Amino acid sequence: MSERDTICALASGQPPAAICIIRLSGDAIWKLAGALLDCGLPEPRRATLTKFRDEDANLIDEGLALFMPGPHSYTGEDTLELYLHGGPAVIEHAISTLIKEPNVRMAEPGEFTRRAFEAGKIDLTEAEGVADIIEAETTAQKAQALRQLTGGLTEQYDRWRAELTGILALIEVAVDFPDEEDAPEETTAPVIIKLNRLIGELEEALGDRGIGEKIRDGFRIAIIGAPNAGKSTLLNRLARRDAAIVTSRPGTTRDVIEVRLVLGGQIVWISDTAGLRETEDEIEAEGVRRAERVAAEADLRLLMVDGSAPELGVLTSPYRQSTDIVIVNKADVNLSPDLPEFNYKISAKDGAGVAEVEAALADFIANKAASVEAPVITRARHRARLVEGLGCLIAARDALDLGTGAELAAEDVRLAIRHLGAIVGTVGVEDVLGAVFSQFCIGK
Ligand code: GDP
Repeated sequence: MSERDTICALASGQPPAAICIIRLSGDAIWKLAGALLDCGLPEPRRATLTKFRDEDANLIDEGLALFMPGPHSYTGEDTLELYLHGGPAVIEHAISTLIKEPNVRMAEPGEFTRRAFEAGKIDLTEAEGVADIIEAETTAQKAQALRQLTGGLTEQYDRWRAELTGILALIEVAVDFPDEEDAPEETTAPVIIKLNRLIGELEEALGDRGIGEKIRDGFRIAIIGAPNAGKSTLLNRLARRDAAIVTSRPGTTRDVIEVRLVLGGQIVWISDTAGLRETEDEIEAEGVRRAERVAAEADLRLLMVDGSAPELGVLTSPYRQSTDIVIVNKADVNLSPDLPEFNYKISAKDGAGVAEVEAALADFIANKAASVEAPVITRARHRARLVEGLGCLIAARDALDLGTGAELAAEDVRLAIRHLGAIVGTVGVEDVLGAVFSQFCIGK
């Protein structure tokens, strides 16, 4: 067997830093340690203080070396971590020395974790959890990532797959003995019950309103309303900076402007949209269409009304929805006697009332995030496969129910197992591996 490359990367953050960690995984570690560390190959799992030298015996730095022999290491291979001073010159000298060795090269993004996955140490959802915990900004993102990387999703998907394997075995009995007199009824009835229970569980998981994905990627709030209502001004207030252009010319926000905030402990994208109105202007009309699209996908819509000159048109269908939060703006000027019913009265310009709106948004988002406990779908990839898997189970159930054939049902269950298997990465994932691991940082 040809020797696999040994990979090497800076695993710690941007220099300069007090300490950096340089990580290596692969067979060349023995040789490298023998040649470059004064201590030689360190005793396994024991931090060893040593001098680290280049190929000409020049001192690179002094620090700790930690050797974790495979297979009981993160990657399943021999790994070595060097804890050195985190200055750019040290890192440069260390890494350039290491990669001079044949078969030692810089790691690709996520390559350590990919090796862990390929060695069967973790499954794909756990690998995704590793990527997510590194990116996590909110406590909720961290908790979700941690649950995922410690096997929280694996457990659920494995249980479903095990049940399906059991169901498949039962259906195969019916396929094997198609001629037995009363076999169909007796064997299919319990299988249908089991399938229905599983269908119910998958439907429940899919009925999570996307909370897992939203905790990871962000919730969405859209500010909508007539041109000039003060939408951009409110966005800028919430963002505490000038994100959107504020002008008194109606129809200026032609595209959608999004600002990312943390509200209610969650990542939230607030979008300022083109004012909703009938228009002849092609570009503005496209803006209105985009505004409608963004509004349709939002978790919450803030419908803004210029209190000094309310355009009541936007308060009616097709723009208005019963769950919209109606905000009357420009409370600092003479308000029209003709105001609609509203939830909040603010002045986006001088800030009056904005804190109340912000607190209400934070509450809404926090409650929404808490409305589903421990979602098992945290990425679009999981959802797509689960939807497919559910479709197969329904088809299998119907085939048994209508008596159209145990063989068809068995095939559908087999397909469902594949779809669930793809989520955890046991089958059919060649195409997604690259996509999953390329999102990692180098060194992980
Ligand atoms: P948009 O088209 O809905 O995004 O509205 P803008 O935020 O661009 O604001 C339109 C105009 O209304 C600008 O001249 C703003 O300065 C003004 N404006 C926004 N909010 C207020 C407010 O609370 N009070 C007053 N008096 N003017 C405001």
